[in-house]
Amino acid sequence: MKIPGMWQLRKLSRKVGKRVQGLVAPGTLILMYHRVAEIGSDPWGLCVSPQHFAEHLQVLQKLGCVVSLRQLQQMLENGKHPSRSVVVTFDDGYADNLYNAKPLLEKYNIPATVFFTTGYMNLKQELWWDELDRLLLQPGTLPSVLQLKINGEDFSWDLGNAATYTQSEYQQHRNLLVWQENLPSLRHRLYYSLYKLLYPLPTNQRQEIIDEILTWGSLQPEIRETHRFLTLEEMDKFQPSELIEIGGHTVNHPFLSTINYASQKEEIQKNKAHLEEIFSSPVVSFAYPHGDFNPDTVKILQELKFSCACTTNVGRVARKCSPFELPRVQVENWDGNQFEKHLSMWFKE
Ligand SMILES: [Zn+2]
Repeated sequence: MKIPGMWQLRKLSRKVGKRVQGLVAPGTLILMYHRVAEIGSDPWGLCVSPQHFAEHLQVLQKLGCVVSLRQLQQMLENGKHPSRSVVVTFDDGYADNLYNAKPLLEKYNIPATVFFTTGYMNLKQELWWDELDRLLLQPGTLPSVLQLKINGEDFSWDLGNAATYTQSEYQQHRNLLVWQENLPSLRHRLYYSLYKLLYPLPTNQRQEIIDEILTWGSLQPEIRETHRFLTLEEMDKFQPSELIEIGGHTVNHPFLSTINYASQKEEIQKNKAHLEEIFSSPVVSFAYPHGDFNPDTVKILQELKFSCACTTNVGRVARKCSPFELPRVQVENWDGNQFEKHLSMWFKE
């Protein structure tokens, strides 16, 4: 089973390299952030704490190497070899982007592109992977056996003693990342099994199963303050400027390669139109949800006058890189020193 590119990045990030100073390797690194927040459990490692994010920005400011995505795109268009530089991007549009990330970007004068998923503004529940976290990775008691039919196939899991997840187990395991091998927590293993089964499904089908799982766990509808997305009014405060560029990220965050041409186009076009209406500004950059796309996706982006798109493929942007296949690197919750070491490693590879 193919795991989305986004999650493949961890392997690479475990290596540690030398410091940035003195390196001559050309190319641009596009950093991929999702959230600037501190939350109880973060099974994918999507959160960077505000303190660490400030330290990342201090490193970038010291290195003086940040360009905007628009500048990078122009460099590629002009056939210029990108110099050793860094672009900052955010995916999805969690509320902490406005309250925690934006003030720090302004403080350190670092430009960033934020890719918004417009369907998230009106969600009546949390995102499906956050719902799984709320159900499985928070303390509480669940029924012992979960049985599901997914794509005509029957699945059954027995939680045994893990039916009850105590506060102390939660404290002990809350920093586990679900893709790690030999996880000591059955709750985390179940989370990952369900994630792998659910992610390839069409949005509606996936939601039906999520609802079934939530009913099984008697979980009441709730959107945690720590896991909500920006409202329309809040998005309005994210006005594009010299520092902030707004990019597209579809309406419903689907795996684009799994849906037909017309559905892909609708996802991308409606998102672009909505963002342009909110911000009264053209939206020309895009990030593929889950890093997933196919040749149709690129064709649609070109038809809709997008000028570039970011993937989750790991790497540096080189001179001949297609503007619709820009690689990125995922940033984790490192302190400033660790962040600088990873920059160095990425520039070298
Ligand atoms: Zn996303």
